[in-house]
Amino acid sequence: MIMRLEEVCGMEIRCALCGKKMEINKMDKNFAAAKRGENPVVVCPMCQRSAMFEAKKQVEKE
Ligand SMILES: [Zn+2]
Repeated sequence: MIMRLEEVCGMEIRCALCGKKMEINKMDKNFAAAKRGENPVVVCPMCQRSAMFEAKKQVEKE
């Protein structure tokens, strides 16, 4: 049985904010969309953290 590459290694997608390449595997909720050729909006963990940090800063300013 031959397994397709994407089933073993996952797929490469880019972070919507910084453009950093990330790999998602088939367990990822965006995998099916990426496989269909769609461009799911995905944010890498680093940008997620900085986005949360920025949001917190905004709240503290108010
Ligand atoms: Zn990013």
